[in-house]
Formats: sequence, structure tokens, C-alpha cells
Amino acid sequence: MSLEPDTRADLRAAIRTIPDFPKPGIQFRDVTTLMGDARAFDAAVSELAQPYRNADIAKVAGIEARGFILGGAVARELGVGFTPVRKRGKLPHDTLIEEYELEYGSDAVEIHVDALERGERVLVVDDLIATGGTAEAAIKLIRKAGGEIAGAAFVVDLPDLGGAVRIRNLGVDVHALVAFEGE
Ligand code: AMP
Repeated sequence: MSLEPDTRADLRAAIRTIPDFPKPGIQFRDVTTLMGDARAFDAAVSELAQPYRNADIAKVAGIEARGFILGGAVARELGVGFTPVRKRGKLPHDTLIEEYELEYGSDAVEIHVDALERGERVLVVDDLIATGGTAEAAIKLIRKAGGEIAGAAFVVDLPDLGGAVRIRNLGVDVHALVAFEGE
């Protein structure tokens, strides 16, 4: 990470941790406090975009829901379009769908069939990567839709859960601004 230590410490400090949410044992890393702080939000958006400024990105794909807020701002920062990767059943036009496993059961993400031109380079953005299951589904979906993945950018990585390694194993460049130990 090329991020200045001060910037990284500021971003870390702007993220609130809620113990035992949504269930016992989970430390919920709440980025709404970072988004509510103008300087931290600006720094996060700028640092998410930084590695991709000259990377010929055509679109940012944000993952519902916090990835929409960050991804929209990153798209604007890079001067490119935005496309939403939504949870099942929300998009109005014809979609492609990708299912993924959760701890209990499964979920699915969707993208509009015509969201991407074939070969467009796409940057995936979300607030946090944990197991990487959601990001992997989004990446498979974007590839199905004809996009080429230029990278995946997150504010928070939880390295103990292995998500960043999982996504790198798909041949994708991964950047995260801060890491927190544990789940
Ligand atoms: P995963 O698919 O396991 O990488 O989970 C990533 C998604 O779940 C992201 O969209 C996060 O917003 C959310 N998430 C998972 N774990 C946490 C956590 N400890 N704190 C906040 N959000 C989380």
C-alpha cells in the first residue's frame, strides 16, 4: 500500500466498530461514520481511485449497498460511468445472475444484461472484503456480462477471513485502504 501512514490512521479512526452486530462474535466495521466525515470520505474516495487513474477504466461497478455510495464517488473521481451490482430481484430490465454461498443458504447478485460493452475494463468497489464471496460473485457476473476486471478496491480488508487472497487467485488486482484483524 502506497498510502501515507497518517491518511491510513485517519481512515481507520473514522471507521466505527460495533461489537456483536449483527450477531455475537462479529465486529461490525461501520463505514457510515467515515462517509459522514467530509475529509475522511474525500480521502477514501481519492485513495480508492488512485491506483486506477491511468488504468483505462471504462466503468466502476459498486456492490449493493455501501458499494453504491463509494463506487459512485469513485466513478466520478475517475470520470467514468457507474453500474450497480444489485441483490436479487431489484433491477428492472433483463439481468444476468450469479448465486453465491452464505454461511447459511445462498444469495445472488444481478447486473443488467446491457450494463457493459464487451471488453470494457471494470473496477469493482465495495466497502469491505471479508470472505470474498460477494466480490467473487460480482466478478463472475461482470465477466459473464462481457467486462474485463481491472481491479477490486475496498476501504476495509479483514485479512483473517482470506477474501483478498481468494480474489487475487481469480487473477484480480486487489487494493484495500485499511485492514482490521479478526472477523
Ligand atoms: P464477504 O462476502 O464475506 O466478503 O462479505 C462482504 C460483504 O459483507 C460486504 O458487502 C460487507 O459490507 C459485509 N460485511 C461482512 N463482514 C462485515 C463486517 N465485519 N463489518 C461490516 N460489514 C461486513
